[in-house]
Amino acid sequence: MEEKQIYTLFKQKEALLEGHFLLTSGLHSPTYLQCAKILQYPDIAEKLCIQLAENFKEKIDVVISPAIGGIVIGYEVARVLKVRAIFAERVEDKMALRRGFELKEGENVLAVEDVITTGGSLKEIIQLVKEKGCNIMGAGSIVDRSGGKVQFGVKKVALLTLEVKTYQKESCPLCKQGIPVTYLGSRHKSAK
Ligand SMILES: [Zn+2]
Repeated sequence: MEEKQIYTLFKQKEALLEGHFLLTSGLHSPTYLQCAKILQYPDIAEKLCIQLAENFKEKIDVVISPAIGGIVIGYEVARVLKVRAIFAERVEDKMALRRGFELKEGENVLAVEDVITTGGSLKEIIQLVKEKGCNIMGAGSIVDRSGGKVQFGVKKVALLTLEVKTYQKESCPLCKQGIPVTYLGSRHKSAK
């Protein structure tokens, strides 16, 4: 699928809405993005992950992703590559491997995420992979909402690149126009 088709698909499935939104972070934005609304359709998730996986031709031993948002993507990409899928999760504010997941020294690791916002989670995971003595082969995501600004010092692939503007309430141009604000986010602070 071309980027334009993916964009249209996100709109059709209401994973991407335009208007005036209050985000979980407290910021206002003309764009609401919820990748889970796309990934709830396994056939679409499969297609997107095949496309993402095709970008990484080098030998990969394991795919790692950040919980919770990255788990589905990591699993589907690993299925295409026929390798292990593991995920890292926050333990006392630090990304860690739990549940018996292991990275062996010298393994080739691909890090994937559903949405890159600041890239913070993927950066932490890449650091974790390096600390285990593994080779980081690339970073992939379905959406990069940083407009392509976030980089990881490794090959990076995003299927859909967006520049999502956010504003403090006080300087929000949509508020100034008197457009009512919608809150769609979950109450949980770590949710995207
Ligand atoms: Zn506003």
